[in-house]
Amino acid sequence: MSDRDGKIWMDGQLVDWRDAKIHVLSHTLHYGCGAFEGVRAYNTVNGTAIFRLREHTERLLNSAKILRMKVPFSIEQLEDAQKAVVRENKLESCYLRPLVWIGDQKLGVSPKGNTIHVMVAAWAWGAYLGEEGLKRGIRVKTSSYTRHHVNITMTQAKAVSNYTNSILANMEATDDGYDEALLLDSSGFVSEGAGENIFVIKNGVIYTPDLSAGALNGITRNTIFHIAKDLGLEIVQKRITRDEVYIADEAFFTGTAAEVTPIRELDRIEIGIGSRGPITTKIQAAFFDIVNGRNAKYAEWLSKV
Ligand code: PMP
Repeated sequence: MSDRDGKIWMDGQLVDWRDAKIHVLSHTLHYGCGAFEGVRAYNTVNGTAIFRLREHTERLLNSAKILRMKVPFSIEQLEDAQKAVVRENKLESCYLRPLVWIGDQKLGVSPKGNTIHVMVAAWAWGAYLGEEGLKRGIRVKTSSYTRHHVNITMTQAKAVSNYTNSILANMEATDDGYDEALLLDSSGFVSEGAGENIFVIKNGVIYTPDLSAGALNGITRNTIFHIAKDLGLEIVQKRITRDEVYIADEAFFTGTAAEVTPIRELDRIEIGIGSRGPITTKIQAAFFDIVNGRNAKYAEWLSKV
């Protein structure tokens, strides 16, 4: 990924893609304390726009706050940086990756005495779990790895270190021939996917785990709450067991990368009709209308670059 043309925003400057480098003694590389975001820009009917830029940038700053990192840039500067990266790389639609990390002045567990750095990169990235997955649904495996307990590395931070857990779960599931992993919390209740929130539908009601299950407070998750309300569908946050997913009528994952991806199987047990269900289809269509600028009600969620 590093050997290509383009610009990356690093600590206030747009630098050549190939020169966007850090030192091997960077603190975050050794101890894993960093915060990041995943953001998408869409080629909307009104031109390229970043979806829910304010909320993503706020979450980045909140993740840094939780991890006791003082970000040396304002929310406005970070929003401008993200817009600049999309513009400078002439991207019509893309995925954006802002990252906050700790510098290379000193090692040792205490990061005190190190500078805090920020970068933003962007590149074209299609359907995270495949175009086919968006249409037909994906096959998911309950992970043998437990999702972080809420008092370990802090689950409301999109922390770099939380993703070792996600990587292990995703590798285990994909090595076993599945598309993605579903992680349970330390009490055995459904938490989230390796990089997605989960929703299940039963008898017309939508359920999603409440955040005490250690799931990230997803921005797409929040978008689904708005869509459900618009469609007149009830949505309930509660503890969910894995067998409730087996016997659900429909299930789907959400995330900036994954968008709205139906789940057609969990642990080789077919969910509902074993394909994208009717309510998921409606929610997914409403989601793509919003992100592509076809729903005026949510125009303020799209920041033109
Ligand atoms: N959970 C995890 C672990 C994630 O990595 C993501 C992706 N950021 C999500 C949930 C979904 O969050 P969002 O909708 O804000 O992208």
